[in-house]
Amino acid sequence: MSVSYDKVALIGLGLIAGSMALAMREKGLVGTIAGHARTAETRAVALELGLCDTVHETAAEAVQGADLVVLAVPVGAMADVAREIAPHLKPGATVTDVGSVKQAVIEAVAPEMPEGVHFIPGHPLAGTEHSGPRSGFPTLFVNRWWLLTPLPEADAEAVAKLRALVEAMGAHVDEMDAAHHDLVLAVTSHAPHLIAYTMVGVADDLRRVTDSEVIKYSAAGFRDFTRIAASDPTMWRDVFLTNREATLEILGRFTEELFALQRAIRTGDGEHLFDYFTRTRAIRRGIIEAGQDTAAPDFGRSKGG
Ligand code: NAP
Repeated sequence: MSVSYDKVALIGLGLIAGSMALAMREKGLVGTIAGHARTAETRAVALELGLCDTVHETAAEAVQGADLVVLAVPVGAMADVAREIAPHLKPGATVTDVGSVKQAVIEAVAPEMPEGVHFIPGHPLAGTEHSGPRSGFPTLFVNRWWLLTPLPEADAEAVAKLRALVEAMGAHVDEMDAAHHDLVLAVTSHAPHLIAYTMVGVADDLRRVTDSEVIKYSAAGFRDFTRIAASDPTMWRDVFLTNREATLEILGRFTEELFALQRAIRTGDGEHLFDYFTRTRAIRRGIIEAGQDTAAPDFGRSKGG
């Protein structure tokens, strides 16, 4: 695929925007990239790493003349950014975002968008527990899903063009409505993160009792929780504040199931436990068959890694 957008503006220059810049450059998908981040330090690093051709102190300056604008800031910052850039957007430009929650971003951004600008919300289901401009890498999106949640009145051509860019970065694209997206993500990402945060918090309390053995003898299960629980606090605070209903719905179900398992343990109901774990094992197999994870022992990590 050749250059599809002459000028791209990245608002926010962290893990996601940095990875997009590297992927788009590597594949020659865009002309120039302008960037904006809050701090001078992040802007300097983005220039040093070659993520952007130019960096700007304000988002308003960065979007001047841009054909594609990517909002890659925490969800809670989207409204302010949208308000700031709106009067400076090029007519006919496409604005997309990469926020982990979709309904709240649409409510924050869509009303600000001027006539003739195409706002197409999106969410790459790819990330790591690291953040900032140095954490990006060009293959982050390869073989990962990137969900687009276009509004009913979206321009089909603009959606197709954005879709082609995302696919050229190696991602698979699905389109769905924003409410469905938020429910799916509450199940697959948001509630699991909250559970990881809780588990690590609990273990931290237990450390006093077990004299640091929890950390020292961490088996893979707990280690994976600690990795997830190391995720960016700002991003995850915003996810829970903005995907409140769906997350609470899933957590309610989770609590019910947890109580049922707790009861099975208390009453020695091995059949219940066995059936439950058989069902969950099948779900894991399905994920591997769908190519979304590796079947290698210890998630393909080298021994002790
Ligand atoms: P990140 O690495 O922490 O980077 C965030 C960037 O946004 C930084 O450059 C930061 O600038 C800038 N920023 C923060 N507040 C701002 C504001 N008020 N105005 C302007 N810039 C601001 O974050 P990320 O992981 O790339 O996440 C960005 C978005 O992608 C979030 O909406 C998140 O929900 C979504 N997302 C994340 C993941 C993931 O796993 N990380 C996956 C999918 C989607 P400074 O460095 O100067 O503060």
